[in-house]
Amino acid sequence: MDGSAARKVARSKKAARSAAIRSRDAAVAVAQRPSTGGVLQLLWRERQISRAEIARRTGLSRSTVSEIVGDLLKTRLVAEVGDGASQGGRRPIVLQFQDDAYGILGIDMGAAHIAAALVNLRGQVIAWEHRSHPVRTDPEGAVSLMIELSEACLRQWKLGADRLVGIGVAVPSPVDPKDPDRVSEVVMPAWQGHNVGEALRKRFRVPVLVDNDANLGALAERWWGAGRGIDDFTYVKVATGVGAGHIIHGEIYRGAHGIAGEIGHLTIDPQGEPCLCGLRGCLATRVGSRALVAHASALLQGHPESALAGREVTITAIEDAALGGDPLALQVVREAAEYLGIAVAGMLNLMNPARIIIGGGLARLGELLLATLRRSVTGRTLVSSIAPTEIVTSELGARAVALGAATLVLQTALADLRHFRIAAAGN
Ligand SMILES: [Zn+2]
Repeated sequence: MDGSAARKVARSKKAARSAAIRSRDAAVAVAQRPSTGGVLQLLWRERQISRAEIARRTGLSRSTVSEIVGDLLKTRLVAEVGDGASQGGRRPIVLQFQDDAYGILGIDMGAAHIAAALVNLRGQVIAWEHRSHPVRTDPEGAVSLMIELSEACLRQWKLGADRLVGIGVAVPSPVDPKDPDRVSEVVMPAWQGHNVGEALRKRFRVPVLVDNDANLGALAERWWGAGRGIDDFTYVKVATGVGAGHIIHGEIYRGAHGIAGEIGHLTIDPQGEPCLCGLRGCLATRVGSRALVAHASALLQGHPESALAGREVTITAIEDAALGGDPLALQVVREAAEYLGIAVAGMLNLMNPARIIIGGGLARLGELLLATLRRSVTGRTLVSSIAPTEIVTSELGARAVALGAATLVLQTALADLRHFRIAAAGN
Protein backbone atom coordinates (compact mmCIF):
# COMPACT_ATOMS: atom_id res chain seq x y z
CA MET A 1 0.00 0.00 0.00
CA ASP A 2 1.49 3.39 -0.91
CA GLY A 3 1.28 6.39 1.40
CA SER A 4 -1.76 8.05 -0.15
CA ALA A 5 -3.77 4.80 -0.25
CA ALA A 6 -2.86 4.15 3.39
CA ARG A 7 -4.00 7.64 4.33
CA LYS A 8 -7.25 7.15 2.40
CA VAL A 9 -7.98 3.91 4.25
CA ALA A 10 -7.11 5.54 7.56
CA ARG A 11 -9.42 8.47 6.75
CA SER A 12 -12.37 6.27 5.74
CA LYS A 13 -11.94 4.10 8.84
CA LYS A 14 -11.74 7.19 11.01
CA ALA A 15 -14.90 8.58 9.40
CA ALA A 16 -16.75 5.29 9.96
CA ARG A 17 -15.73 5.20 13.63
CA SER A 18 -16.66 8.83 14.21
CA ALA A 19 -20.07 8.20 12.63
CA ALA A 20 -20.56 5.16 14.83
CA ILE A 21 -19.72 7.17 17.94
CA ARG A 22 -21.91 10.12 16.96
CA SER A 23 -24.88 7.89 16.23
CA ARG A 24 -24.63 6.25 19.65
CA ASP A 25 -25.56 9.16 21.80
CA ALA A 26 -24.44 12.58 20.73
CA ALA A 27 -25.99 14.26 23.75
CA VAL A 28 -23.62 12.70 26.32
CA ALA A 29 -20.41 12.59 24.27
CA VAL A 30 -17.41 14.48 25.63
CA ALA A 31 -15.47 16.95 23.51
CA GLN A 32 -12.36 15.56 21.83
CA ARG A 33 -9.73 18.31 22.01
CA PRO A 34 -6.63 18.00 19.79
CA SER A 35 -4.41 16.86 22.68
CA THR A 36 -6.93 14.75 24.58
CA GLY A 37 -5.82 11.42 23.08
CA GLY A 38 -2.20 11.99 24.04
CA VAL A 39 -3.10 12.89 27.63
CA LEU A 40 -5.47 9.92 27.94
CA GLN A 41 -2.81 7.53 26.65
CA LEU A 42 -0.22 8.99 29.03
CA LEU A 43 -2.61 8.52 31.95
CA TRP A 44 -3.34 4.94 30.87
CA ARG A 45 0.38 4.13 30.64
CA GLU A 46 1.42 5.82 33.89
CA ARG A 47 -1.76 4.92 35.84
CA GLN A 48 -0.96 7.64 38.41
CA ILE A 49 0.30 11.10 37.51
CA SER A 50 -0.27 14.74 38.50
CA ARG A 51 -1.51 17.57 36.28
CA ALA A 52 1.86 19.28 36.57
CA GLU A 53 3.67 16.14 35.45
CA ILE A 54 1.29 15.76 32.48
CA ALA A 55 2.10 19.35 31.46
CA ARG A 56 5.81 18.68 31.81
CA ARG A 57 5.68 15.42 29.81
CA THR A 58 3.41 16.66 27.00
CA GLY A 59 4.60 20.24 26.69
CA LEU A 60 0.97 21.43 27.00
CA SER A 61 0.10 24.50 29.06
CA ARG A 62 -1.21 23.94 32.59
CA SER A 63 -4.58 25.45 31.62
CA THR A 64 -4.96 23.10 28.63
CA VAL A 65 -4.08 20.13 30.83
CA SER A 66 -6.65 21.28 33.41
CA GLU A 67 -9.37 21.50 30.75
CA ILE A 68 -8.58 18.03 29.41
CA VAL A 69 -8.39 16.52 32.88
CA GLY A 70 -11.74 18.16 33.62
CA ASP A 71 -13.22 16.28 30.65
CA LEU A 72 -11.60 13.03 31.80
CA LEU A 73 -12.99 13.43 35.33
CA LYS A 74 -16.49 13.84 33.87
CA THR A 75 -16.20 10.49 32.12
CA ARG A 76 -14.97 8.70 35.30
CA LEU A 77 -11.95 7.43 33.35
CA VAL A 78 -9.80 9.29 35.85
CA ALA A 79 -10.18 9.99 39.56
CA GLU A 80 -8.32 12.21 42.01
CA VAL A 81 -6.77 9.87 44.55
CA GLY A 82 -4.93 12.09 47.00
CA ASP A 83 -1.76 14.13 47.32
CA GLY A 84 1.59 13.28 45.76
CA ALA A 85 5.06 14.17 46.98
CA SER A 86 5.70 17.90 47.14
CA GLN A 87 8.40 19.33 44.89
CA GLY A 88 8.82 22.49 46.88
CA GLY A 89 5.35 24.02 46.66
CA ARG A 90 1.83 22.77 47.26
CA ARG A 91 1.50 18.98 47.14
CA PRO A 92 0.06 18.03 43.73
CA ILE A 93 -3.17 16.05 43.47
CA VAL A 94 -2.53 12.59 42.00
CA LEU A 95 -4.79 11.49 39.16
CA GLN A 96 -5.39 7.78 38.70
CA PHE A 97 -6.63 5.99 35.58
CA GLN A 98 -9.73 3.94 36.46
CA ASP A 99 -9.28 0.51 34.87
CA ASP A 100 -12.74 -0.68 35.91
CA ALA A 101 -14.75 2.37 34.86
CA TYR A 102 -15.71 0.80 31.53
CA GLY A 103 -15.75 -2.58 29.82
CA ILE A 104 -15.10 -3.89 26.32
CA LEU A 105 -16.37 -7.08 24.70
CA GLY A 106 -13.93 -9.15 22.66
CA ILE A 107 -15.43 -11.91 20.52
CA ASP A 108 -13.38 -14.76 19.08
CA MET A 109 -15.29 -16.27 16.20
CA GLY A 110 -13.42 -19.45 15.28
CA ALA A 111 -14.23 -21.91 12.51
CA ALA A 112 -15.99 -24.19 15.02
CA HIS A 113 -16.54 -22.08 18.15
CA ILE A 114 -17.47 -18.66 19.46
CA ALA A 115 -16.05 -17.16 22.64
CA ALA A 116 -16.81 -13.80 24.24
CA ALA A 117 -14.71 -12.02 26.85
CA LEU A 118 -15.78 -8.95 28.78
CA VAL A 119 -12.58 -7.17 29.81
CA ASN A 120 -11.77 -4.01 31.74
CA LEU A 121 -9.55 -1.22 30.41
CA ARG A 122 -6.43 -3.10 31.59
CA GLY A 123 -7.20 -6.27 29.62
CA GLN A 124 -8.37 -8.23 32.69
CA VAL A 125 -11.16 -10.69 31.92
CA ILE A 126 -14.33 -9.99 33.92
CA ALA A 127 -16.56 -12.60 32.24
CA TRP A 128 -15.94 -15.37 29.72
CA GLU A 129 -18.38 -17.44 27.66
CA HIS A 130 -17.48 -20.16 25.17
CA ARG A 131 -19.60 -22.41 22.94
CA SER A 132 -18.90 -24.84 20.07
CA HIS A 133 -20.70 -23.87 16.86
CA PRO A 134 -20.37 -24.68 13.13
CA VAL A 135 -19.52 -21.04 12.33
CA ARG A 136 -18.31 -21.65 8.76
CA THR A 137 -21.61 -23.15 7.61
CA ASP A 138 -24.15 -21.32 9.82
CA PRO A 139 -23.74 -17.53 9.67
CA GLU A 140 -27.22 -16.71 11.08
CA GLY A 141 -26.67 -19.00 14.06
CA ALA A 142 -23.19 -17.59 14.59
CA VAL A 143 -24.46 -14.00 14.67
CA SER A 144 -27.23 -14.94 17.14
CA LEU A 145 -24.74 -16.78 19.32
CA MET A 146 -22.37 -13.76 19.37
CA ILE A 147 -25.25 -11.68 20.74
CA GLU A 148 -26.29 -14.39 23.22
CA LEU A 149 -22.77 -14.82 24.64
CA SER A 150 -22.26 -11.04 24.79
CA GLU A 151 -25.49 -10.67 26.78
CA ALA A 152 -24.40 -13.51 29.09
CA CYS A 153 -21.11 -11.69 29.78
CA LEU A 154 -22.88 -8.37 30.43
CA ARG A 155 -25.27 -10.06 32.91
CA GLN A 156 -22.23 -11.04 35.03
CA TRP A 157 -21.07 -7.41 35.21
CA LYS A 158 -21.89 -5.03 38.01
CA LEU A 159 -21.96 -2.04 35.64
CA GLY A 160 -24.66 -1.22 33.11
CA ALA A 161 -24.52 -1.51 29.33
CA ASP A 162 -23.93 2.28 29.13
CA ARG A 163 -20.37 1.52 30.33
CA LEU A 164 -19.66 -0.73 27.37
CA VAL A 165 -17.13 1.06 25.12
CA GLY A 166 -17.38 -1.17 22.08
CA ILE A 167 -17.09 -4.67 20.69
CA GLY A 168 -14.18 -6.21 18.81
CA VAL A 169 -14.77 -9.29 16.68
CA ALA A 170 -12.03 -11.65 15.46
CA VAL A 171 -12.89 -13.74 12.40
CA PRO A 172 -11.07 -16.75 10.87
CA SER A 173 -10.79 -15.07 7.48
CA PRO A 174 -8.86 -12.29 5.80
CA VAL A 175 -10.54 -8.93 6.51
CA ASP A 176 -10.35 -6.14 3.95
CA PRO A 177 -9.73 -2.93 5.93
CA LYS A 178 -11.98 -1.08 3.46
CA ASP A 179 -14.93 -3.45 4.11
CA PRO A 180 -14.27 -5.12 7.48
CA ASP A 181 -17.79 -6.48 8.01
CA ARG A 182 -17.44 -9.04 5.19
CA VAL A 183 -15.48 -12.25 5.56
CA SER A 184 -13.78 -13.92 2.60
CA GLU A 185 -16.19 -15.86 0.41
CA VAL A 186 -13.31 -18.09 -0.61
CA VAL A 187 -12.55 -19.21 2.93
CA MET A 188 -16.15 -19.06 4.22
CA PRO A 189 -18.54 -19.39 1.22
CA ALA A 190 -21.69 -19.72 3.37
CA TRP A 191 -21.11 -16.15 4.62
CA GLN A 192 -21.64 -14.58 1.18
CA GLY A 193 -23.95 -11.60 1.68
CA HIS A 194 -23.74 -11.80 5.49
CA ASN A 195 -22.50 -9.00 7.71
CA VAL A 196 -20.38 -9.71 10.80
CA GLY A 197 -20.90 -6.57 12.88
CA GLU A 198 -24.29 -5.10 11.92
CA ALA A 199 -26.51 -7.11 14.29
CA LEU A 200 -24.15 -6.44 17.23
CA ARG A 201 -24.16 -2.71 16.44
CA LYS A 202 -27.97 -2.68 16.38
CA ARG A 203 -28.33 -4.67 19.59
CA PHE A 204 -25.71 -2.92 21.73
CA ARG A 205 -25.48 0.54 20.06
CA VAL A 206 -21.68 0.70 20.34
CA PRO A 207 -18.88 0.72 17.73
CA VAL A 208 -18.05 -2.78 16.47
CA LEU A 209 -14.60 -3.36 14.95
CA VAL A 210 -13.82 -6.53 12.96
CA ASP A 211 -10.39 -7.92 12.14
CA ASN A 212 -8.62 -11.18 11.32
CA ASP A 213 -8.07 -13.56 14.26
CA ALA A 214 -4.29 -13.90 13.84
CA ASN A 215 -3.91 -10.10 13.56
CA LEU A 216 -5.78 -9.74 16.85
CA GLY A 217 -3.78 -12.53 18.50
CA ALA A 218 -0.70 -10.53 17.51
CA LEU A 219 -2.20 -7.34 18.98
CA ALA A 220 -2.97 -9.15 22.26
CA GLU A 221 0.63 -10.37 22.44
CA ARG A 222 1.90 -6.85 21.73
CA TRP A 223 -0.13 -5.30 24.58
CA TRP A 224 -0.27 -8.07 27.17
CA GLY A 225 1.87 -11.07 26.19
CA ALA A 226 5.13 -12.29 24.69
CA GLY A 227 5.29 -9.33 22.25
CA ARG A 228 5.40 -6.58 24.90
CA GLY A 229 8.14 -4.10 24.09
CA ILE A 230 8.89 -5.74 20.72
CA ASP A 231 8.17 -3.63 17.62
CA ASP A 232 8.63 -6.31 14.94
CA PHE A 233 7.30 -9.79 15.55
CA THR A 234 4.98 -12.39 14.06
CA TYR A 235 2.23 -14.32 15.82
CA VAL A 236 1.32 -17.66 14.27
CA LYS A 237 -2.03 -19.17 15.20
CA VAL A 238 -2.29 -22.92 14.74
CA ALA A 239 -5.88 -24.14 15.16
CA THR A 240 -8.51 -25.40 12.71
CA GLY A 241 -6.82 -23.06 10.27
CA VAL A 242 -3.34 -21.59 10.33
CA GLY A 243 -2.67 -17.86 10.08
CA ALA A 244 -0.09 -15.26 11.00
CA GLY A 245 -0.38 -11.71 12.30
CA HIS A 246 2.54 -9.36 11.69
CA ILE A 247 3.39 -6.48 13.99
CA ILE A 248 5.64 -4.10 12.08
CA HIS A 249 6.97 -0.91 13.70
CA GLY A 250 4.55 -1.60 16.57
CA GLU A 251 1.40 -1.77 14.42
CA ILE A 252 -0.63 -4.57 12.80
CA TYR A 253 0.40 -4.97 9.16
CA ARG A 254 -2.65 -5.94 7.07
CA GLY A 255 -1.41 -5.50 3.51
CA ALA A 256 -3.37 -3.85 0.69
CA HIS A 257 -6.46 -6.07 1.02
CA GLY A 258 -6.07 -7.59 4.48
CA ILE A 259 -4.54 -10.83 3.24
CA ALA A 260 -1.06 -10.35 4.75
CA GLY A 261 -0.17 -13.29 6.98
CA GLU A 262 -2.43 -15.91 5.37
CA ILE A 263 0.26 -18.56 5.66
CA GLY A 264 -2.30 -21.36 6.05
CA HIS A 265 -2.69 -21.36 2.27
CA LEU A 266 0.98 -21.42 1.32
CA THR A 267 1.57 -24.45 -0.85
CA ILE A 268 3.68 -26.93 1.10
CA ASP A 269 3.11 -29.95 -1.13
CA PRO A 270 2.02 -29.33 -4.77
CA GLN A 271 0.70 -32.91 -4.97
CA GLY A 272 -0.94 -32.74 -1.51
CA GLU A 273 -4.54 -33.00 -0.29
CA PRO A 274 -7.20 -30.57 -1.55
CA CYS A 275 -7.77 -27.59 0.78
CA LEU A 276 -11.03 -25.80 1.65
CA CYS A 277 -9.75 -22.80 -0.31
CA GLY A 278 -9.75 -24.77 -3.57
CA LEU A 279 -5.98 -25.12 -3.79
CA ARG A 280 -3.96 -28.26 -3.10
CA GLY A 281 -1.35 -29.09 -0.45
CA CYS A 282 -1.78 -25.89 1.61
CA LEU A 283 -0.04 -25.68 5.00
CA ALA A 284 -3.47 -26.02 6.66
CA THR A 285 -3.87 -29.48 5.08
CA ARG A 286 -0.77 -30.61 7.04
CA VAL A 287 -0.95 -28.61 10.26
CA GLY A 288 -4.63 -27.65 10.79
CA SER A 289 -6.65 -29.50 13.46
CA ARG A 290 -8.64 -31.56 10.96
CA ALA A 291 -5.47 -32.71 9.22
CA LEU A 292 -3.88 -33.81 12.49
CA VAL A 293 -7.01 -35.72 13.55
CA ALA A 294 -7.20 -37.46 10.17
CA HIS A 295 -3.49 -38.28 10.24
CA ALA A 296 -3.59 -39.65 13.81
CA SER A 297 -6.69 -41.74 13.00
CA ALA A 298 -4.93 -43.26 9.97
CA LEU A 299 -1.77 -44.05 11.96
CA LEU A 300 -3.84 -45.67 14.73
CA GLN A 301 -4.66 -48.62 12.46
CA GLY A 302 -1.14 -49.94 13.01
CA HIS A 303 -0.76 -48.83 16.65
CA PRO A 304 -3.40 -50.34 18.94
CA GLU A 305 -1.07 -49.68 21.89
CA SER A 306 -1.39 -45.89 21.50
CA ALA A 307 -3.13 -43.90 24.25
CA LEU A 308 -5.45 -42.64 21.49
CA ALA A 309 -6.74 -46.13 20.62
CA GLY A 310 -10.35 -46.94 21.49
CA ARG A 311 -11.47 -43.33 22.03
CA GLU A 312 -12.65 -40.44 19.92
CA VAL A 313 -9.65 -38.77 18.28
CA THR A 314 -9.90 -35.01 18.71
CA ILE A 315 -7.21 -32.36 18.53
CA THR A 316 -7.38 -31.98 22.33
CA ALA A 317 -6.97 -35.78 22.74
CA ILE A 318 -3.89 -35.67 20.49
CA GLU A 319 -2.42 -32.78 22.50
CA ASP A 320 -3.13 -34.58 25.80
CA ALA A 321 -1.60 -37.84 24.52
CA ALA A 322 1.51 -35.99 23.26
CA LEU A 323 1.92 -34.28 26.66
CA GLY A 324 1.63 -37.76 28.21
CA GLY A 325 4.49 -39.01 26.01
CA ASP A 326 2.44 -41.20 23.65
CA PRO A 327 4.77 -42.02 20.69
CA LEU A 328 2.05 -41.87 18.03
CA ALA A 329 0.74 -38.49 19.19
CA LEU A 330 4.31 -37.20 19.40
CA GLN A 331 4.95 -38.37 15.84
CA VAL A 332 1.87 -36.45 14.62
CA VAL A 333 2.97 -33.30 16.46
CA ARG A 334 6.57 -33.56 15.21
CA GLU A 335 5.45 -33.97 11.59
CA ALA A 336 3.18 -30.92 11.97
CA ALA A 337 6.06 -28.93 13.48
CA GLU A 338 8.28 -29.98 10.56
CA TYR A 339 5.77 -28.57 8.02
CA LEU A 340 5.09 -25.48 10.09
CA GLY A 341 8.85 -24.91 10.07
CA ILE A 342 8.83 -24.64 6.26
CA ALA A 343 6.35 -21.76 6.41
CA VAL A 344 8.01 -20.07 9.39
CA ALA A 345 11.42 -20.27 7.69
CA GLY A 346 10.00 -18.52 4.63
CA MET A 347 8.53 -15.82 6.85
CA LEU A 348 11.83 -15.26 8.63
CA ASN A 349 13.61 -14.73 5.34
CA LEU A 350 10.88 -12.35 4.15
CA MET A 351 10.17 -10.32 7.28
CA ASN A 352 13.06 -10.86 9.71
CA PRO A 353 10.92 -10.51 12.87
CA ALA A 354 12.63 -10.32 16.27
CA ARG A 355 10.36 -13.04 17.63
CA ILE A 356 7.90 -15.67 16.43
CA ILE A 357 5.09 -16.36 18.89
CA ILE A 358 3.15 -19.58 18.38
CA GLY A 359 -0.47 -19.44 19.58
CA GLY A 360 -3.63 -21.52 19.18
CA GLY A 361 -4.32 -24.90 20.78
CA LEU A 362 -1.01 -26.53 19.84
CA ALA A 363 0.88 -23.84 21.75
CA ARG A 364 0.14 -25.64 25.01
CA LEU A 365 2.57 -28.36 23.91
CA GLY A 366 5.41 -25.90 24.55
CA GLU A 367 8.85 -27.42 23.98
CA LEU A 368 7.37 -30.63 22.50
CA LEU A 369 6.36 -28.50 19.52
CA LEU A 370 9.12 -25.91 19.62
CA ALA A 371 12.11 -28.28 19.58
CA THR A 372 11.15 -29.79 16.20
CA LEU A 373 9.93 -26.44 14.88
CA ARG A 374 13.26 -24.75 15.68
CA ARG A 375 15.21 -27.58 14.02
CA SER A 376 12.99 -27.41 10.94
CA VAL A 377 13.38 -23.63 10.72
CA THR A 378 17.14 -23.63 11.29
CA GLY A 379 17.68 -26.03 8.42
CA ARG A 380 15.84 -23.74 6.02
CA THR A 381 16.85 -20.17 6.80
CA LEU A 382 19.78 -17.96 6.12
CA VAL A 383 21.99 -18.06 9.18
CA SER A 384 21.76 -14.29 9.47
CA SER A 385 17.96 -14.25 9.60
CA ILE A 386 17.37 -17.06 12.10
CA ALA A 387 20.22 -16.42 14.51
CA PRO A 388 18.67 -13.63 16.59
CA THR A 389 15.01 -14.71 16.13
CA GLU A 390 13.43 -16.34 19.15
CA ILE A 391 10.60 -18.83 18.67
CA VAL A 392 8.34 -19.05 21.71
CA THR A 393 4.79 -20.10 22.58
CA SER A 394 2.05 -17.69 23.64
CA GLU A 395 1.44 -17.24 27.35
CA LEU A 396 -2.06 -15.86 26.86
CA GLY A 397 -3.67 -19.26 26.27
CA ALA A 398 -7.12 -19.85 24.79
CA ARG A 399 -8.28 -16.29 25.46
CA ALA A 400 -5.61 -14.54 23.38
CA VAL A 401 -7.72 -13.83 20.30
CA ALA A 402 -10.79 -12.59 22.22
CA LEU A 403 -8.49 -10.41 24.31
CA GLY A 404 -6.94 -9.04 21.10
CA ALA A 405 -10.39 -8.20 19.73
CA ALA A 406 -11.12 -6.18 22.88
CA THR A 407 -7.67 -4.59 22.65
CA LEU A 408 -8.43 -3.29 19.13
CA VAL A 409 -11.35 -1.35 20.64
CA LEU A 410 -9.25 -0.20 23.61
CA GLN A 411 -6.53 1.10 21.29
CA THR A 412 -9.10 3.06 19.28
CA ALA A 413 -10.90 4.38 22.35
CA LEU A 414 -7.76 5.63 24.09
CA ALA A 415 -7.20 7.88 21.08
CA ASP A 416 -10.69 9.43 21.16
CA LEU A 417 -12.55 10.45 24.29
CA ARG A 418 -15.89 10.39 22.45
CA HIS A 419 -15.97 6.64 23.12
CA PHE A 420 -16.70 7.42 26.77
CA ARG A 421 -19.66 9.16 28.35
CA ILE A 422 -20.18 11.92 30.83
CA ALA A 423 -21.43 10.56 34.16
CA ALA A 424 -24.97 11.69 34.97
CA ALA A 425 -25.23 13.72 38.19
CA GLY A 426 -25.43 11.52 41.28
CA ASN A 427 -24.47 8.46 39.23
ZN1 LIG B 1 -5.77 -23.58 1.20
